[in-house]
Amino acid sequence: MIDEKIEPILDEVVRRNPGEQEFHQAVHEVLGSLGPVLAKHPELAEAKIIQRVCEPERQIIFRVPWQDDRGEVHINRGFRVEFNSALGPYKGGLRFHPSVYLGIVKFLGFEQIFKNALTGMPIGGGKGGADFDPRDRSDDEIMRFCQSFMLELFRHLGEYTDVPAGDIGVGGREIGYLFGQYKRITNRYESGVITGKDPSWGGSLVRKEATGYGTVFFVQEALKAAGKAFDGRTCVVSGSGNVAIYAIEKVHQLGGKVVACSDSSGFVHDPDGIHLELLQQVKEVERLRISAYADRRGDSARFVPGGSIWEIPCDVALPCATQNELTRADAVALVRNGCIAVGEGANMPCTPEAVRTFAEAGVLFGPGKAANAGGVATSALEMQQNASRDSWTFERTEDRLAQIMAGIHEVCFETAEEYGRPGDYVLGANIAGFLRVARAMAAHGLV
Ligand code: NDP
Repeated sequence: MIDEKIEPILDEVVRRNPGEQEFHQAVHEVLGSLGPVLAKHPELAEAKIIQRVCEPERQIIFRVPWQDDRGEVHINRGFRVEFNSALGPYKGGLRFHPSVYLGIVKFLGFEQIFKNALTGMPIGGGKGGADFDPRDRSDDEIMRFCQSFMLELFRHLGEYTDVPAGDIGVGGREIGYLFGQYKRITNRYESGVITGKDPSWGGSLVRKEATGYGTVFFVQEALKAAGKAFDGRTCVVSGSGNVAIYAIEKVHQLGGKVVACSDSSGFVHDPDGIHLELLQQVKEVERLRISAYADRRGDSARFVPGGSIWEIPCDVALPCATQNELTRADAVALVRNGCIAVGEGANMPCTPEAVRTFAEAGVLFGPGKAANAGGVATSALEMQQNASRDSWTFERTEDRLAQIMAGIHEVCFETAEEYGRPGDYVLGANIAGFLRVARAMAAHGLV
């Protein structure tokens, strides 16, 4: 049930942003938790903080022309939504995927505001990307695309202004090309302008692992609060990209066993446990489809084209691929098979109906803006290292990440208790994240 003061705000968002279904969904999800906040803080209602937080500070859309290896010209569309700078420079990744349009970038940017606030670090919220499909493109083509993209975007960036990072389709290789072009255009070695850099030229150790590790740390905290642990648990992780691979690694380090993972072509089921080095060879080094994993693994693993990975029985489910990948039917299957905890490594991977199913069944549920905040938190640690021209050890950085995730868990847990809904991490994350941003916005006056 949506609060009666919130409903007209939601209607207005839908009216002013037609056709942006993912953005509507993300706003609905956050605003659905804020009724009790307005009752407790009428001054925030008076200052129209909720209406203001739903309107991006700036939206940039630009043409990205580039040539493929045969000389054919292509035109893509680039985006950067600078959503909210109340707590620091805009911060959030770039996504290169054919599905990208303004509604996806706004949903991601909106989520990012509250996620970044939950980390407790001085970073605002933003997101960007392009409707470019990097699949089957050569290294040279990827480089030319990144250079053309940055030739427009650079004028909006800066270490105190807007600091992008990676997301789907943008990994270490792309960050390198983007940074190289920024450096060339501006004639500045401004390390803190982008994160996810290789540690050999200004990146932070653990950044690559941070989102996956952080998701597992968050679920570990939630399990601990419920008197449980990862040890001996069976897990299913969707996706096989950056977030999924390092979530699998950390589950294995904590004594759990991941028995399935996927890509957009299907999933592999490997009851003996996913062989991480083989997965990395197939996906990170050779950039092949996930079926190649099953081909090389031999009899122990099978590849299932299409189908739902969530039919595989597990104790813990970590959706780490993309938005709305886990539906109500998937949630019902997970509950039926005895799943006790779900952590969103991806952004908004569970549909609202799936989230409701988990809540009704008493499954521990870590929403993305809390559970996957370890990536951006470590990006902020990368910015700290760049600002002080320092680099930290793997152990020191991982310890900081673990502390930050424990802190995020604590604030979500305590906020849910304070608002009379113990164990409701969705409510806790939305309210705690919103209040941090709202207080800063109120202090800054009407800007
Ligand atoms: P990658 O591009 O490295 O990997 C994405 C993975 O998801 C791939 O295995 C991809 O398969 C799969 N995938 C994408 N679309 C679909 C689909 N429609 N159906 C099934 N599988 C799909 O991206 P990341 O791992 O970086 O990002 C994954 C998620 O995590 C995203 O939601 C992202 O926003 C979120 N996230 C990422 C952070 C980061 O630090 N990287 C930080 C916080 C959140 P295929 O190769 O076939 O497309």
